[in-house]
Amino acid sequence: MKAADEIFNTLPDTVKDAIRDLFSRYHFTESQKLEILKEEADLRQWKEPSFAGSFDHGTLESHQDGRTGDRYMEALRKYMHDLRADATDYSSFFPSIHPRPKSRVTEPDKQLVLSRCPCPVDGEKTRCCKLRTLDVIEQCAFSCSYCSVQAFYAENEIHAISNIKEKLLALEVEDDVWHIGTGQASDSILLGDDHGTLSGLASFAEKHPDIIIELKSKSARNVFSREYPANMFFSWSLNAPTIIEKEEHLTASLEGRLENAMRCRNNGNLVGFHIHPMVYFRGWEEEYGAVADKISSAFASDDLFAISIGTLTFTKSVLKNLRLCGEESRILEMELTPAAGKFSYPLDIKRKMFSHVYSSFPESIREGVFFYLCMEDPSLWPAVLGREYGCDRDFELDMKENYMQKRDILINKRR
Ligand code: SF4
Repeated sequence: MKAADEIFNTLPDTVKDAIRDLFSRYHFTESQKLEILKEEADLRQWKEPSFAGSFDHGTLESHQDGRTGDRYMEALRKYMHDLRADATDYSSFFPSIHPRPKSRVTEPDKQLVLSRCPCPVDGEKTRCCKLRTLDVIEQCAFSCSYCSVQAFYAENEIHAISNIKEKLLALEVEDDVWHIGTGQASDSILLGDDHGTLSGLASFAEKHPDIIIELKSKSARNVFSREYPANMFFSWSLNAPTIIEKEEHLTASLEGRLENAMRCRNNGNLVGFHIHPMVYFRGWEEEYGAVADKISSAFASDDLFAISIGTLTFTKSVLKNLRLCGEESRILEMELTPAAGKFSYPLDIKRKMFSHVYSSFPESIREGVFFYLCMEDPSLWPAVLGREYGCDRDFELDMKENYMQKRDILINKRR
C-alpha cells in the first residue's frame, strides 16, 4: 500500500471527508498530498483540530492565479511550524491511554547475544560511550508514547529467555568488554526475577567482577530484598512529572522511581539517572530543575555512578510507526531537525535544556558524579558540560575510569 493511502486510512471519517474535498478543489503534487496527510495525522495525534477541516477556503478562492494549491501549502506549513516551534502545551491535553496487553512467552531455544549500541560509528555526529547490550527480555509492558522498542518486537508478547543463568554463565565475552546494559529492549527490572533474569545477571556479574552490568528502569518494583554484586549498577530514567503523566504511560511516577532508587542505594548498590528524553514543553524549566533538586537532596555523589542527559531522537521508520499507530500524544509536536541520520530538536533548544538541568545540580554533584550527554552532537559537550572528547574511545575510557572508581569505593565500603 502506498504511504499516502496507509496514512489516509488511519484518519477519522470527518478528516477523510475534508481531505477528499480539499484534493478535489485544488491541484497538489503527490509529495504535497503526502505532506498534507502526514500533517493531518500529526494533528489528530496531538488532539488538535484538522487543518483541512477548519480551513477558510474563501481566502484562497479570491485568488485566480492558479496557485491555490501552493498557497494552501504555505498556510499549512506556517501553521504547523508555529505549533512545532513553540514549547508544547500539555495543560489542556488529556490523552486516552492504550495499554498494549501483553502475554509472556519463554523461549527455551533462544541464545544470548552481546550486541553493540545502535549509535552511528565513531564520527563527528554523535558522541557514544560504546555500551554493549544484552537483550535478556524483549518487549516492554510499559507504554511510553515515544518508544521504539514497542514497534520493533511483536506487539503483544514479552519474550523472556529460559535457563538464563546457565546461558549467561556460558556466554563468551571478549576481553575489551567492560560495560553491558540490559535496558535497550525492555525495562530491566519490571518483571523482577520472575524468569530468573536478575539472579542470572547477579551470577554473571560475580563471574565477571570487572564488567559493569547496568540495569535501566522506569519501574517502582522492589527487587532489593536480596544482595547484588557491587558491579551491578541500577539506573532510572527520570522525566518531568508532566511528561511522565502525559507520555510515559503505565510507568512509575517520579517519586516512585526515586524511592526505588533510594531502596537500591540503601541495599548497597550504586545508582545512576538518565534525565531522558527531555521534552521542550511549557513549564520545562521548573519541572526539570525540580528533578535535579530531588536527586540532589536524596543522594550524595558517592551513591551515584552517573547522570546522563538526552532528548528525543527518531528514525524515519519510528516516525512513520508513531503516525500510523494514531495514539494520542504530543511527543511529535516539535521541530524535527535532521541529526546524525535521525530527527531531533534543533541544537539551540537542546543546549538550553541540557545546560539548564546540568546547572540546576549543586557543585558537589556536578563535580563528584560522571555527567554525560547520551548520543548527542559533540558540539554540545563544551557548551553544556564544559568538557569534550576528541573521539568516542576517549569518552569510553573516561567513563570506565569513573565507573571503576565508584565501584571500588563501594567495595571498600562493603568490607
Ligand atoms: S520503559 Fe522503555 S522500553 Fe518500556 S515502553 Fe517505555 S521507552 Fe519503551
